[in-house]
Amino acid sequence: MVKYSHNQKNMPEQKLKKYAAKRDFKRTSEPSGKRRPAKMKNYFVIQKHDATNLHYDLRLQIGNVLASWAVPKGPSTDPKVKHLAIRVEDHPLAYGDFEGTIPAGEYGGGTVMVWDKGTYDNLRVAKPGDGADMEKSLRQGLIEIRLNGKKLKGGYNLIKTKGFGGAGKNSWLLLKAKDEFAHAKMEPVKHQPNSAKSGKSMKQIAKSI
Ligand code: MN
Repeated sequence: MVKYSHNQKNMPEQKLKKYAAKRDFKRTSEPSGKRRPAKMKNYFVIQKHDATNLHYDLRLQIGNVLASWAVPKGPSTDPKVKHLAIRVEDHPLAYGDFEGTIPAGEYGGGTVMVWDKGTYDNLRVAKPGDGADMEKSLRQGLIEIRLNGKKLKGGYNLIKTKGFGGAGKNSWLLLKAKDEFAHAKMEPVKHQPNSAKSGKSMKQIAKSI
C-alpha cells in the first residue's frame, strides 16, 4: 500500500471529491481513497449492490480512479439487449476489492458484492484511424472494450445517449458486442448470482459483518 505524496503526478483527489463528500468514513467501511492498492492496470469490477434498488456498478480503471456506472439490470450477454448505465462519481481504486455492508442511513446503504472482476482491453486504441485512449473514449461517450472477467468475457460497448431513460446527461447504454462470447441465453446475472471474490451470496455477505 502506497500513500500519496503531494508531488505525485495524476493524484486522484480532485476526481474523488464527489465520492468523499457523500461518505462518512467513520461510519462506513468503504475505502477512503487515501491509499491505493499496488500495481493495478486496466482493472474492471462489477459490484452487485443491494441499495434502495438492486443494481450492478460497473467500474473501469481509467488513470488512477475507477470510472463508474450504475446499471440497474446488470450486464447482458445478449447483443440484442441495450441496458441503461448511469454514470456516477469516480471511485477510488481500492473500491474494486470492497465487499461488505454499508450501514443503513449512509450513502448507498446496503450490501455490496464483487460480482465480477478482471481486466479489460481498450479496443479503440488499436483501431487504425482511431487510437482513442480511455480518457478520450470517456470524453467522447464511446467506450469499446474487451472484458477478461471471471464471468464476463469479450466485447462490450458503452455509448453515451442524449437523455434516454430519464438519467439526463449521465445516461449511457451498455451493450454486448457481437463476438464468440455473445450468447442470448447465458445471462450470468441470472445464473451466476454469487461473488467472484468470495463465492458468497448476498445473504451470506450481509450476515458476515
Ligand atoms: Mn451502487
